[in-house]
Amino acid sequence: MLPLFLLIAVLAPSGSVLWFMNDAARSQAEAARQRVTEAYRAQARILRDRVDESWKARVSSLDGVNDFVGAWKASGADAIILLDERGRPVYPARPAGPAPDPATDRPAWQLAEAQERGGKPGEAAALWESIANSERDPNLAGRAAQAEIRCLLGSGHRDAALGEIERRFGSGRWASARDLEGRLLAPDEQLLELHLLKRGAPRFEARARQLAERVNRYDDPPMLSAQRLFLMNELHALAPYLADFRWEAAETLAEQVLEAGRVTPLSTALESSGFSDVWKVASGDQRVLALYRSGTVAALTAPILKIGLGGARFTVAAPGAPPSDGVAAGRMLPGWQIAFTLFDTQALEQTGARRRAAYVWMGSTVIAAAILMSFGAVQFFRRLSRLNRLKTDLLAAVSHELRTPLASMRLLVETLLEDGQADAVKTREYLQLIAAENLRLARLVENFLTFSRIERNRQHFEFAPTTPAAVVESAVAAMGERLHAPGCQLDIEVNPGLPPLVADENALITVLRNLLDNACKYTPAEKRIRIRAHEQNGRVAFEVEDNGIGIAPREQKRVFRRFYQVDRRLARETGGCGLGLSIVEYIVRAHGGEVTVESQPGAGSTFHVLLPCQAAAREAAGA
Ligand code: ADP
Repeated sequence: MLPLFLLIAVLAPSGSVLWFMNDAARSQAEAARQRVTEAYRAQARILRDRVDESWKARVSSLDGVNDFVGAWKASGADAIILLDERGRPVYPARPAGPAPDPATDRPAWQLAEAQERGGKPGEAAALWESIANSERDPNLAGRAAQAEIRCLLGSGHRDAALGEIERRFGSGRWASARDLEGRLLAPDEQLLELHLLKRGAPRFEARARQLAERVNRYDDPPMLSAQRLFLMNELHALAPYLADFRWEAAETLAEQVLEAGRVTPLSTALESSGFSDVWKVASGDQRVLALYRSGTVAALTAPILKIGLGGARFTVAAPGAPPSDGVAAGRMLPGWQIAFTLFDTQALEQTGARRRAAYVWMGSTVIAAAILMSFGAVQFFRRLSRLNRLKTDLLAAVSHELRTPLASMRLLVETLLEDGQADAVKTREYLQLIAAENLRLARLVENFLTFSRIERNRQHFEFAPTTPAAVVESAVAAMGERLHAPGCQLDIEVNPGLPPLVADENALITVLRNLLDNACKYTPAEKRIRIRAHEQNGRVAFEVEDNGIGIAPREQKRVFRRFYQVDRRLARETGGCGLGLSIVEYIVRAHGGEVTVESQPGAGSTFHVLLPCQAAAREAAGA
């Protein structure tokens, strides 16, 4: 019951301690992580302000810029859309439908067109040529020249057509002439020239280079974006090695955004363009719309984020990105985040692990202390209850065992006193009986006292050199007349030259006296008692042998227990209280020795006491 109670008393607090430890370690780690995260969040707020500033500066640098390339360069954007004062796209612009043709009602034009349609390209070519020469409007003149070239080709005059392209459009005279859809005529004719020329010919190379340069130029006269993209495409096919157009991607993206999304409303903060993964921002004067892909926003912002604290990687995350630690990215990037990921979590984990180890250590110490204390408590209570039991046993034994010799002594004394003329022999006999009872009483009291000292840990031994012979002699002498009484044969055998012992001589005498006492008590008539001392394997062996009632094998271990008596009734008669052998064992053990019994019921018992002899004393004895 008690151990169970203590087990619960230990297990319950141990469980709580373990739980507490675990919980504390976890919340410590969490708190550390939160502290670090908070530090990085503060850093992210600083970076957010810088990022905001940089985007403000970037957007305000677009104020007053009104050309595609200039705006592209100033903004670092992926694409640019230029706007008019009403917010409509100017560049790239959707081609307007064909304008009314001012030439429709001119007779010369009608005639030339009729000839061409009537399948007379040769005549038509001549008519177109004269119109081209006389027309003052460059657009109309250019268109007539274009028609002339077309008719020359239609009539199979390829060289003449090439000559006319060169003569009329190579000079730059009609560089700004446009067709009804607003396309520039010259680049279109130059493209036709390329188609007519042999690839790789010097003139082809020169014209291709010129055309590629023209496509890359954004100065006057402005070219429609659609025409530019068309020419880029054609050049990719005709002269891929020249087709390296810096703004092709920007042109394409601007076209795509215009096609997919709405340009308005204009905002000076980064907003979705309506085209997947592309963001738009308008300049303060609302004449430039810069388009950024998410990757470009991140790349442009990265240099600012690089100056963040080490131990974390700061990035700018687009709206809808997977959630992570961070702060809102500020006014210029609404919905964006300055996010961070801790990549140096090792130090954090190490701190956590150290703390955990400390807690485990602390917890283990507490548990170990609790276990030790409960173990101590169990021992203490056990000892207490054993002492209590002993006390009861002792009281019972004392009251009973003392009463018997006292009663018989009183009886003897009273008989002597009553018999006024007792003869000397009878008196002596009575006195001898009284002396024997007295001796028995003294042994009992002595055993009680020894036992009591042992139990209270007050038994002290005084070790001093002595000889086995002296111990045997004193023990036999202390037994008095009992061993020399009639019907008792005593043999004493002490081998000569035994090594001396370092022992408490009185204690050893008690050992032998108790054994001799038992030999007397448990041997009925015709006692043959032998006491021997000899050397055995370097140790001194005492043996007390009798021819008494013997001890059954299963009792042979138990007889050394306190208060254990094989046959209580017999023990009462012989006057014992079950302490003699337990005292023997205690003393022998305290001397580093051991006591055993060999016995056969009905045949007698031999008690062996083996004691170590001190090497130094032994050498001295040999010398
Ligand atoms: P007690 O005071 O009863 O003799 P001991 O501790 O000396 O107590 O002995 C314990 C028991 O061992 C005895 O009661 C007895 O039954 C048994 N015993 C001891 N010595 C002998 C012996 N020489 N022969 C037979 N039985 C013995």
